[in-house]
Amino acid sequence: AKSAGGNRFELADPEADARAITRHGLTTALPTALDRGEFFIEYQPLVHLGDGSVRGAEALVRWLHPQHGVLSPDRFIPLAEHTGLIVPLGRWVLEQSVRQARAWRERHGGAEALGPLRINVNLSPCQLTHPGLVQDTVDILERTGVEPNALCLEVTESALIGADDDLLKPLRRLAEMGVDIALDDFGTGYSNLANLRRLPVSILKLDRSFTQSMQQFPADPVDLKIVEGIVSLAHSLDLAVTVEGVETGAQAEQLRILGCDTAQGWYYARPGPPERLHDLALVDATG
Ligand code: C2E
Ligand code: CA
Ligand code: CA
Ligand code: CA
Repeated sequence: AKSAGGNRFELADPEADARAITRHGLTTALPTALDRGEFFIEYQPLVHLGDGSVRGAEALVRWLHPQHGVLSPDRFIPLAEHTGLIVPLGRWVLEQSVRQARAWRERHGGAEALGPLRINVNLSPCQLTHPGLVQDTVDILERTGVEPNALCLEVTESALIGADDDLLKPLRRLAEMGVDIALDDFGTGYSNLANLRRLPVSILKLDRSFTQSMQQFPADPVDLKIVEGIVSLAHSLDLAVTVEGVETGAQAEQLRILGCDTAQGWYYARPGPPERLHDLALVDATG
């Protein structure tokens, strides 16, 4: 134990050191990780709350680091944004995911009634301001022959708060082409709800914190009112509502009753390899 007034440089926090070293190591390894093929994508099903059918999946990137094993995106996306790697990495994720959607469609062809499985891809704010976004997306869709309306780009609410027209222009162009834009983590950003009309979005993804508050039964009446209000506002603006982080059947049922359209979460499936989603979709499409 150290006496008060002792040398404060001896009070090193070994965990903080380890974190700093790891962060430094990751920053060094990141720029070449894409070329070394160390990233891979897991897919998490999006399920229609009304009939339980799988309608699509969200693409979630992971880094298989040679020393540290599988790293979650929270560990490296901020670094990728900081170093600029997010632009080529994001383009790679988009291309892989759209190719995957195409592969699902080829194997899954029968389920015309539900339409093709849709693919949701996260966009970082840095990609929004990158001038190549629209053209890259158009090129990828054309190369793969996937219809724009099978693609949904997820942008966080906080990235669009106070967004000016320059920032919205590429999203508008994509939306006009038929690409869906989803507002991710909705409800955490304190945005002006009336502002929603200005944004070229067609889907609200309700933040996981709302789903968590449906955990208790009966759920907090104020939370119920808030979700009810968001859903009715969204629907009156022609927006669909997706809920994320659904971990229990009780949450799914509560959110279905509140009118939410689509759900995602461990209750249905954890993020996983693309083949698993194909199996799930087939099971549901055939009853
Ligand atoms: P997000 O877009 O909000 O994605 C949802 C996160 O919730 C994912 O974490 C997912 O694995 C997790 N999740 C899904 N179901 C459940 C559940 O039932 N319970 C709980 N507790 N969690 C659940 P993940 O995969 O670690 O991704 C974290 C974040 O990293 C994402 O949050 C997204 O913001 C970002 N991210 C992931 N992939 C990409 C990407 O390709 N590009 C960019 N720019 N960001 C990405
Ligand atoms: Ca997302
Ligand atoms: Ca989210
Ligand atoms: Ca999030």
